[in-house]
Amino acid sequence: MAPRALASTATVAGVPVDTRHWIGAERVASPATFTDRSPIDGTALASLARGGAEEAKAAVAAARAAFPGWAATPPAERARLLHAVADGVEARTEELARVETADNGALLRAHRRGVMPRAAHNLRFFADWLLRLGHDDFTTRGHTNHVSWDPSGPALLITPWNAPLMLATWKIGPALAAGCTVVLKPAEWAPLTASLFADIAHGAGLPPGVLNVVQGYGAEAGAALVSDPGVRRISFTGSVPTARHIAAGAAERLVPVSFELGGKSPLLVFADADLDLAVDLAVEQYDNAGQVCLAATRLLVEERIADAFLERFLDRAGALRQGDPREADTDVGPSIHPRHLERVDGFVRRALASGARVALGGGPHTELNDATGGTYYRPTLLTEVAQHSEIVQEEVFGPVLTLQTFRTEDEAVTLANGTRFGLAATLATGDPARADRVSARLTAGTVWVNCFYVRDLAAPFGGSRESGIGREGGAWSFDFYCDVKNTVTAPKGWQQHG
Ligand code: ADP
Repeated sequence: MAPRALASTATVAGVPVDTRHWIGAERVASPATFTDRSPIDGTALASLARGGAEEAKAAVAAARAAFPGWAATPPAERARLLHAVADGVEARTEELARVETADNGALLRAHRRGVMPRAAHNLRFFADWLLRLGHDDFTTRGHTNHVSWDPSGPALLITPWNAPLMLATWKIGPALAAGCTVVLKPAEWAPLTASLFADIAHGAGLPPGVLNVVQGYGAEAGAALVSDPGVRRISFTGSVPTARHIAAGAAERLVPVSFELGGKSPLLVFADADLDLAVDLAVEQYDNAGQVCLAATRLLVEERIADAFLERFLDRAGALRQGDPREADTDVGPSIHPRHLERVDGFVRRALASGARVALGGGPHTELNDATGGTYYRPTLLTEVAQHSEIVQEEVFGPVLTLQTFRTEDEAVTLANGTRFGLAATLATGDPARADRVSARLTAGTVWVNCFYVRDLAAPFGGSRESGIGREGGAWSFDFYCDVKNTVTAPKGWQQHG
């Protein structure tokens, strides 16, 4: 039987996107495909190549073949190429933004103004850092210790759908700067900008095999890549259950992993806080329809200001406009997928069944979904939730916040630290001494005081407890992607046994 002919290009938001893998410097098809749909209206955007063992093997082989040449490329040249790729991202910002919005439903204006420029910055930042990478040489009894950052080999980068290109470049930037070659496995629910990025990197002159993209499902393409013996590093952003699978695969060959996983982060609002700021910080948690690992989804508010806080919160959050993320006045777009919408709603229904009360939202936006074919969930706030309940303990990854109150600083810290996660924590307080005391006691990779989502790429980023393993950012990224080597040289004329 003749193989089914595959269209190799889909036009999404007016932009042609290649639907095949990118391996070596070639587009490669697979016998099977999967359908990628838009959460805005449920339309099929593209039929993509569905990779498996064979494609994984070919991609890692290409990355291995390219590794010696890329590792030996002088840092200045690697940095120049990364800047050239960043130029390409900037030149295609509008197309990338439109495709990403069609694919994952996040706001177009956020993609244009913030996300795509940040994707380019991810590349430039690590290119520049590479050129300043310290060599911490020191002397021991006359012997010099020369510390060098040797690239470790092909790196497997597995990324999620909530911020596809931003999170891909956050890993690709340091991996390529360090001298590793890369196999990128984008998420099957938002795989398109990875394909555009491959074109951009190729156009900028990145040598064949230095960047490879394998499309497909996690359990197929992803799992096959994890178990490939050629992979020397795995950086993953995604869910805890998937992390366990990947960690088990990596353990077979003792491959170092860097994991940035889920969260159930708190926003602590003390009575001495600027109430408007605190409410703004709380409402901001609906950004990207709550599909942000860092989101502070647990609002912990000091009891004596809880009524005032709630009133202002409901005023502000109740005014959010939900709708088509391509429209300029939309605040909250759709959730990624009908299955995800169902999952989010399951959490809310179970919470209500166990005594929670709806202060805002509380279900899918049925009229909007019926009218558009999209997957919208109403911004939701639940009160009367118990600390041990599922809705407080589990990551929902949707526009669903809970509100709890506390009386003392001790109680606030106990509630804040009382989950198995530890990705981030945000506090609103007007008292700097309290800010110091409380931040010191919080279990979190990042603590924000009177701000949220301020992320300098030089800062360490990652999670404690089940929110992750390791830190990336600045020198921490190079530490992960490199095999750091210390070369000890004796002084002239020195004899070991003399
Ligand atoms: P979510 O549940 O939010 O979709 P996942 O953690 O399952 O998040 O997915 C994040 C990324 O991990 C995606 O690129 C997905 O394809 C990939 N993935 C899922 N399962 C596996 C697996 N068993 N091995 C490798 N990668 C996987």
